[in-house]
Amino acid sequence: MTTISSPDARAPLAAELPTIRAAYPALGRRVHGKPLVYLDNAATTHKPLAVLDAEREQAMWHNANVHRGVHLLSQEATERYEAARSTVRSFLGAAEDREIVFVRGTTEALNLATATLAATRLGPGRDVLLTGMEHHSNIVPWQLACQASGASLRVVPLLDDGSLDMEAFDRLLDGGVAVMAIVHTSNALGTINPVQAMCAKAREVGAISVVDGAQAVPHGPVNVRELGADLFAFSGHKVYGPTGIGALYGRAELLESLPPWQGGGDMIRTVTFEGSTWAEPPARFEAGTPNITGAVGLAAALDHVTGLGMDRIAAHEADLLTYATGRLLADIPGINLIGTAPAKAGVISFTLDGIHPHDIGTVLDHEGIAIRTGHHCAQPVMDRYGVPATARASFGLYTTREEVDALVVGLRRVQEMLG
Ligand code: PLP
Repeated sequence: MTTISSPDARAPLAAELPTIRAAYPALGRRVHGKPLVYLDNAATTHKPLAVLDAEREQAMWHNANVHRGVHLLSQEATERYEAARSTVRSFLGAAEDREIVFVRGTTEALNLATATLAATRLGPGRDVLLTGMEHHSNIVPWQLACQASGASLRVVPLLDDGSLDMEAFDRLLDGGVAVMAIVHTSNALGTINPVQAMCAKAREVGAISVVDGAQAVPHGPVNVRELGADLFAFSGHKVYGPTGIGALYGRAELLESLPPWQGGGDMIRTVTFEGSTWAEPPARFEAGTPNITGAVGLAAALDHVTGLGMDRIAAHEADLLTYATGRLLADIPGINLIGTAPAKAGVISFTLDGIHPHDIGTVLDHEGIAIRTGHHCAQPVMDRYGVPATARASFGLYTTREEVDALVVGLRRVQEMLG
């Protein structure tokens, strides 16, 4: 992950956790009579009051459609929606607001990227390079695009520890690759890929780089210009914001060169029955009424994490990862960690000898502990490591060491009951 040049010098986040957690009402819940231990942050994060309040204020006082009305409420809604775009731009380190397209989330962003690049870049001998650890949302759209265009998929294999095989990457990336589409941080393994180096190599061979940043932006500082990504996607709900909103960053010249994706209001310059002309980006890619309330909520979420300090969040989660990995290996016999790459985010995928991951999840749920079990929308990863599914604990900025301890106790209980 890209590190910013001036690391946050404030005290570790852990010291502020009681105050921080108080801002997340859901964390105070009880589940099956036990205090909630929420370790499913890679699936979605909880929302702080600042986000809920911002959404409520927008809907209650400034509700109007954007870019369309001369009346005051519409102007207010437009200003707030566009201010949210600036917040996303600054959060990602992009150069200009017009490089930020609001979308429903990572999945929609990747479908937008795929559809527009398929139309302009792909074809026989102009292939797509993916990695073996992609989320289905960065596989299936490319498969459809390849079927339609005659391009082929090339896939970078994974090493046993969950890292990319970078020698294979170097062999697979040649002038026949038109698009490199890679996950920044794997939701199934936690691996953080060397995205900056990969984007530089893609550029050398003239390939467009598309980065799935869904699991990168919640866990540490990201700067799209330092990364050198041409397109970069993320979802609001994984970074403490609302569902149904996310963003696609696109380098200005690239976005300008791409055709529209969906047609409708707001994305046109002129319309006649003989033909239409398109608005400039980002409007070209935002057909119809956008998720205005969601965009305002997303901006509040980004202000929240920026205020806490992305460096501090990264350091806190790194500490949790080390602590949790040590405790699990020491105290849970028969645990197998799937994904032990040296560069790793706060995501621990594992199996327990003789116990199906779904049963682990069910018993833990009765202890108030929420983890994810299944293939994590990354079936090729499961195939690679020869497991049908894994159990996954994933950390967030509000996760405590005590919650890791509760997971260890919960897993012992799973083994007592089912082992
Ligand atoms: N990419 C990765 C790495 C993910 O973890 C996810 C969600 O789990 C997605 C893409 C899809 O995100 P969304 O469902 O918000 O569109």
